[in-house]
Amino acid sequence: MDKSEFRKWSHRASDWSADYQDGIDKRPVRPRLQPGAIGRMIDAGPPEEAHAMEDIFADFERIIPDGMTHWQHPRFFAYFQSNAAPAAIIAEQLAGAMAAQCMLWQTSPAATELEIAMIDWLRQAIGLPEGFQGTFQDTASTATLCAILTMRERALGWSGNQTGLFERERLRVYASEGTHTSVDKAMWVSGMGQDNLVHIPLRDDLSMDVAGLERAIAEDRAAGYIPAGLVVCVGGTSIGAIDDVGALCAIAERENLYTHVDAAWAGSAMICPEFRHFWAGVEAADSIVFNPHKWLGASMECSAHFVRDPEMLVKTLAIHPEFLKTYGKDGFVNFSEWSVPLGRRFRALKVWFLLRAYGLEGLRRRIRDHVRWSEWLAGRLAAEPDFEIVTKPMLSLFSFRYAPPDYEGDLNTLNRQLVEAINDDGRIYLTQTMFDEKLAIRFVAGQFEMEEQDIDIALKTICEVARSLTG
Ligand SMILES: *Cc1c(COP(=O)(O)O)cnc(C)c1O
Repeated sequence: MDKSEFRKWSHRASDWSADYQDGIDKRPVRPRLQPGAIGRMIDAGPPEEAHAMEDIFADFERIIPDGMTHWQHPRFFAYFQSNAAPAAIIAEQLAGAMAAQCMLWQTSPAATELEIAMIDWLRQAIGLPEGFQGTFQDTASTATLCAILTMRERALGWSGNQTGLFERERLRVYASEGTHTSVDKAMWVSGMGQDNLVHIPLRDDLSMDVAGLERAIAEDRAAGYIPAGLVVCVGGTSIGAIDDVGALCAIAERENLYTHVDAAWAGSAMICPEFRHFWAGVEAADSIVFNPHKWLGASMECSAHFVRDPEMLVKTLAIHPEFLKTYGKDGFVNFSEWSVPLGRRFRALKVWFLLRAYGLEGLRRRIRDHVRWSEWLAGRLAAEPDFEIVTKPMLSLFSFRYAPPDYEGDLNTLNRQLVEAINDDGRIYLTQTMFDEKLAIRFVAGQFEMEEQDIDIALKTICEVARSLTG
């Protein structure tokens, strides 16, 4: 493509984007496709000669949109949403046009300074005390990896990067059985290993058994291990498990553990003061992650990683002599020293656009609607004779299953069929989890453009499709 054509194609792309948004709710949320169907439509090798943009664009329209699961569909109720608010999409277009590499202050002064400001706006928005600083990582998995690496380095007197782990002390990290597998993966990558992640059982309310944690730490110390860190879960992915943040942070402080709070999904809800009781005591944590790209609308990838003492993160991840390190207190910071990759995208721009285009009140209204609508649906399903609630709403997440009273087959099989049938129907999209050996269907309200009528369609679709399976 000739550079002179850029304006034309960029306008075409904008028009396409607007049309896509306008028609998105007419599409099935998840396409009905066999694996490989799209791959077969792509040429087997790269072209030697340039193709015309006309052809490239036509192939995009022919092949890609119908082969996508539409995450911005208002009736996407699966996983956790990955919202891209329209204003954030515009900011991403602009960031894409500048295509800056934001590794150092001097490679991106405005991006770095906007990042410092946006992290602080978000800190205020979710009610964290002054003093927390932070950065935008790509994903929560990366933020958790950075925290786990910090646990390791802190426990090894900041020498693990140098010596490696061979013949070093054996370190332990603790997390509940409800935490996300990104914690396990971070243990693999950090070299501490899966066996040194101690999974503490859950209590009946799905929070980490605090007494069990204290016992595990004492046993580990007696056996010669060094307890290094604790991962606290606020809103687990499966069914929304929540740990007692205050109690766990108090133990961590007494036991000299570095604490990381994973609130990847639920953290967005903390812009509403009435939900902050879910993480009461969080100000004592060392590290906190939440994903504005999930519920808030900042679009992938945007993970806000807050730390109480950036020096520990920088000591773990900066590969510069000490005299070059800066921690942002003077407004001068190289964010590549706060993360694993060197290169970084300009993520703060979409947060700036998002927060200004909707305001905290606009974002709170959406989150409150989602919670209310989810509770309403849970109530409606509970009132139907052939449905049961498996886990009650935690914010906007609950799970249910279809259990007709006279049904004689296996309910797990029936509900697995139900999820497939609902998703093939296309009006809504749901995913499942296992809870107490029951196959439970998760329902999460949270799409940015969702409206009240969408919850009615959800109820209607679930009941209709379920009853068609057994009727
Ligand atoms: C989504 C999620 C993650 C992983 O987030 P990524 O940003 O995709 O790495 C981790 N923990 C929890 C609780 C989550 O909900």
